[in-house]
Amino acid sequence: MTPMAPRALTLLVDTFEGGGSVIEDLLDPAHHDALRVLRDCGALTAAKDVPVVLCPWCGEQDIAPQQAGKTLLGLCPDCGYVPITNTALHAWAADPDWLLARLRQAFGIAARQDSSELVPGTLWKVGDHKENRRARRIVLARQLAEPGVHRSSLAALKDSIERDNAVIIGTTPRSAARIDGISSPYVHLTEIVHFRSNRLELDEARWEWCLKPAHLRTHEASPVFHENFRVAVIEGDACEFSATQAAIFGYLYAAKGRKCHKDSIIGEVDSAQKNPVELFRHNTRQFEAFNKVVEWDDYGFYALKRF
Ligand SMILES: [Zn+2]
Repeated sequence: MTPMAPRALTLLVDTFEGGGSVIEDLLDPAHHDALRVLRDCGALTAAKDVPVVLCPWCGEQDIAPQQAGKTLLGLCPDCGYVPITNTALHAWAADPDWLLARLRQAFGIAARQDSSELVPGTLWKVGDHKENRRARRIVLARQLAEPGVHRSSLAALKDSIERDNAVIIGTTPRSAARIDGISSPYVHLTEIVHFRSNRLELDEARWEWCLKPAHLRTHEASPVFHENFRVAVIEGDACEFSATQAAIFGYLYAAKGRKCHKDSIIGEVDSAQKNPVELFRHNTRQFEAFNKVVEWDDYGFYALKRF
């Protein structure tokens, strides 16, 4: 079982990109926890267009629920009007306003700045991010793989951004988004932020990558480490780490496979432990993962064997 937070973000992004809704009853039970968290924090709101569900009374007929005030009703050929009280049958859609507000927060964009819609329903200006007297326009895009959306979004981007002065956050996979003609960096939403404590947190490493000039942006991130070293995916298995543990990986990663002495590592990550092993050995899962990516010797030298 992979950690919940990355799955919640993926579910949110998939729902947002698809533009449709998600019904708990039709979702893989392994992701019900993620759905509930997103629903509780307001990232998913009750959808207006509710897809057909199975009648909760007879369980035989498909019915199309309709919003009736605050409740849902469905007309079943056998049972007549049936109230759909089971929240598991409600449909939930991703709320663009929630996403825009949390992105503004993640980028530290002043609260008085509002986001605005550049193309209805598919392209938004999140806000202007100011750092070192340089402003960058943060743009959120979805459904770029659809030809009509692609055309109108690209036209709007050309109108509303100056060359190299924007960062495009998208929910369409880069390969399908066809944004090669644009000089601004394009980053997938799941890579630029992490979902943590019902908020979105900026991935500093990925943001730094976005700010680099185009010719320095070619290096892709590590296939093993994600979320600023907070998650390692080893042989398809994801393991989550504390901030201090992540800092150990970050230190070793920066050394590019060269050996590092325990004292310099520990000194850098500000831990009370006497060596990096001590930080991992109390949790079986984390220690197993640590063993797979790090090697060390009796003299206290550590190095990454996987990147
Ligand atoms: Zn029925």
